Amino acid sequence: MSQGKLETLVIIGSGPAAWTAALYAARANLEPVVYEGEPIGTMVPGGQLMTTTEVENYPGFPEGISGPELMDKMRAQALRFGTRVVSERIVRTDLRVHPFKLHPSYGPETSALAVIIATGANARWLDIPNEERLAQTGGGVSACAICDGALPVYRDQVLAVVGGGDTAMEESLYLTKFAREVVIVHRRDEFRASKVMAQRVLEHPKIRTLWNQRVVEVLGYDSISGVRLEDTITGERRDLDVGGLFVAIGHTPNTAFLDDQLDLTPHGYIRTQPWRTATNIDGVFAAGDVMDDYFRQAITAAGTGCMAALEAERWLAHHGLGESPVLETAEAPVSAEAAQQASDSRA
Ligand code: FAD
Ligand code: NAP
Repeated sequence: MSQGKLETLVIIGSGPAAWTAALYAARANLEPVVYEGEPIGTMVPGGQLMTTTEVENYPGFPEGISGPELMDKMRAQALRFGTRVVSERIVRTDLRVHPFKLHPSYGPETSALAVIIATGANARWLDIPNEERLAQTGGGVSACAICDGALPVYRDQVLAVVGGGDTAMEESLYLTKFAREVVIVHRRDEFRASKVMAQRVLEHPKIRTLWNQRVVEVLGYDSISGVRLEDTITGERRDLDVGGLFVAIGHTPNTAFLDDQLDLTPHGYIRTQPWRTATNIDGVFAAGDVMDDYFRQAITAAGTGCMAALEAERWLAHHGLGESPVLETAEAPVSAEAAQQASDSRA
């Protein structure tokens, strides 16, 4: 494979975090290159919002906007200022050398002085009939209650939530604001969630739990009419009428291609310094759902994308590679090690 050219800043990913980072970096004359990925299963360039219909909580769109349209606009805005795009995935990295080496799926290896990783996370799905189709057409299947729960289609309905972890508890409690009833379907006879969250759910008058059950099929053609349940002990099947299904069985951050070169949290998310996007490797930054297992929203992903671009700009300037209006201070030093020390001393 031939050696590609040396880039100042490469951004890996194509969701709100990546395009916001690209917008800021391009306007700072860093001439960023974005590797936007390629379609693989449910993961498509443009990120998670490509798989949803209406986005009602992204500021600036009072009437709401479709997920794919929002992502088209973000991409176009980044391109307007000179961002270059490669429609390939980064499959391997070498972050132990500087300039960093990045290997795309087909094209030549690229070297970069700074890298922003914004590869997102994928909601886990059940892989059952009708689930993906109805999730993609706004037919009443979702993997994000905070994103979709307030949509008219779910109001005053009986809503099923699958999962027994903290996410399922949190989403169930959130959905009680809109639903007539929330039915948690869990495959075992006890929750994995923390005691306090589980207790809150078990005591809630609008929530009931079906234990030892799994959903094996989503029923309905244009929109969901119910779910088919199977008892995990007896194998007996029955149908439950519901107006919505929320799958809350966890997320997988897209970090496999990093091959353990960066510090990760126990759940596999990229570890960054508090209130920063700097990772444990100087010059490598992370933004969006790949480093955030808590908020997981488009606006927070975009916010951390902005932070990553500003930090990268400042880091490059610190190393004599351009200028940055955001200066180093004792409170906010540039190097990862110094930043960690400053953060420790504040704690
Ligand atoms: P993602 O959107 O996860 O995108 C990352 C992309 O990077 C991937 O899709 C892939 O194409 C690319 N990529 C991955 N690996 C590589 C690689 N190795 N090389 C190159 N490219 C790569 N949030 C809201 O605020 N409002 C909503 O209404 C809302 N609705 C949602 C509905 C659904 C069904 C889902 C699943 C999520 C929803 N969210 C919503 C959450 C929101 O989509 C995420 O928080 C946000 O998209 C995260 O953005 P991100 O930039 O971190 O990355
Ligand atoms: P999680 O803890 O891994 O729980 C996933 C749940 O989904 C488990 O109950 C699991 O069942 C179930 N599940 C997994 N695959 C399934 C399948 N194919 N079919 C049916 N059920 C399936 O994930 P999470 O709830 O997203 O939490 C992840 C981490 O974030 C946890 O550490 C959690 O504490 C934390 N978190 C904290 C908060 C909070 O504190 N407010 C909120 C959200 C998340 P089993 O139990 O049988 O394995």
